Amino acid sequence: MAKNSSSDGKKWRRATRLVRGGTTRSGHGETSEAIFLTSGYVYDGAAEAEARFKGEAPGFVYSRFGNPTVAMFEQRLALLEGAEACKATSTGMAAVFAALMAQLRAGDHVVASRALFGSCLYIVGELLPRYGIEVTLVDGTDMAQWQAAFRPETACVFLESPSNPTLEIIDLPAVSALAKENGARLIVDNVFATPLLQPAMQLGADIVVYSATKHIDGQGRCLGGAILSDQAFVDDELLPFLRHTGPSLSPFNAWVLLKGLETLELRVERMCANALAVAGFLQSCGAVGKVLYPGLESHPQYALAQSQMSAGGTVVSFDMSGGKAAAFDLLNRLQLIDISNNLGDAKSLITHPATTTHQRLQPEERAALGISDGLLRLSVGLEDVEDVKEDLAQAIG
Ligand SMILES: *Cc1c(COP(=O)(O)O)cnc(C)c1O
Repeated sequence: MAKNSSSDGKKWRRATRLVRGGTTRSGHGETSEAIFLTSGYVYDGAAEAEARFKGEAPGFVYSRFGNPTVAMFEQRLALLEGAEACKATSTGMAAVFAALMAQLRAGDHVVASRALFGSCLYIVGELLPRYGIEVTLVDGTDMAQWQAAFRPETACVFLESPSNPTLEIIDLPAVSALAKENGARLIVDNVFATPLLQPAMQLGADIVVYSATKHIDGQGRCLGGAILSDQAFVDDELLPFLRHTGPSLSPFNAWVLLKGLETLELRVERMCANALAVAGFLQSCGAVGKVLYPGLESHPQYALAQSQMSAGGTVVSFDMSGGKAAAFDLLNRLQLIDISNNLGDAKSLITHPATTTHQRLQPEERAALGISDGLLRLSVGLEDVEDVKEDLAQAIG
């Protein structure tokens, strides 16, 4: 077997998988993974083309269906997650949409937590119902609501934990058990936890989706997404959907994301340590009301977070007691931290959810989600944490 062959991946420990998993070298023996910027592939003869199209011979046929650089990213991520299969997509939203639409049909029912990333809420709340798919939204922290929501037609459960932006934690093993009892598949949007902090599949997810735009790139360069599951779901339901609808990841972006995976563990560990320190600091500031961070003992679901996550994550949300005016004043006084709605980046980024990511919602809907006018969401980066704290201190005043 060639050195570094993909079959080694399963015996490697996590850090090794992140650096070497899925690598296939071309005949040139390059150290860095090659970028195959090609839309198509050529065949040795007509019979070879026929066999590849029939799936009877290995090899790529068109980059909408598969590409060697994209396949390296998919294999590395599958090894990291411990999933049988992975398919990459152009964005995180393409991953969420494909994971749902590849399997749902009119007459099906979906149960989802209400505290979702804005575009995920749009898909489950507004798009699916247009196609005859009924959706029940529940408070993800209330097991009685989950229990009551299932129906014989329930095909899928969709949730996000920790949630954006209030960092609520959903009990993954408990919801997974309910989904199994009811014959429904559990899809977990694991972006805020990252593949490192919360092993969503081991905790009971059937399908895990990521926005690779966030921590996997983590340096603000490109968009990407991924869907992980067993091989049967990919082969029978997901692949036909992806091949014919075309949300493919560009080979160049796949290469950027592959390189991102190599340093993911180092970056996420440092960002979590910085986030914990910043959360503790914010708690000591008089002008700051509630501080929401799953790694703080004051988080209402601290014990649950400890049981299913290995750290509190890289995002801290906090409420300015003075409401929107105080939140805007703080944002406008920052000298280091950037105002931006991305997250998981090496640079610390802060956003005011009520007027940006969640501005489309009615005031009552925001209130129900705990998104007050004073709430700020801070994605803590890789700067020296003392500089981040000093910037916040001078901005809070
Ligand atoms: C960013 C994000 C998405 C969407 O990902 P894109 O790459 O921006 O399309 C979905 N879910 C969560 C939780 C996210 O944070």
